Amino acid sequence: MQFCDECGSMMKSMGSKMVCANDDCQHTTGKDEEKAAEFVSTEEQGDSEVIETSEDANFEGKPTANDVICDKCGHDTAWYTIKQTGAADEPPTRFFKCQDCGYRWREYS
Ligand SMILES: [Zn+2]
Ligand SMILES: [Zn+2]
Repeated sequence: MQFCDECGSMMKSMGSKMVCANDDCQHTTGKDEEKAAEFVSTEEQGDSEVIETSEDANFEGKPTANDVICDKCGHDTAWYTIKQTGAADEPPTRFFKCQDCGYRWREYS
């Protein structure tokens, strides 16, 4: 037997929760209340942020690489920037931007 915290009347069982039998009070206790309070929306984090930041990277003024060939125009000098896109124990990825035509690509080492 359970009694209402608010008015001391008898509580009656309604499914998984207890409802006060006093119609003027109708205080409820039980699992449903707790569940509702604990429920937190866990929206998925977008996975686009890691790689796509390179698209906006400002390559101008960055170091240049002479050991690469642009796929688009064959130019042999490109700006590059290095980013750690994976786990810490994975090698970083080099991002290139052709100095001639502006084509961008990445290299997995
Ligand atoms: Zn009550
Ligand atoms: Zn190019």
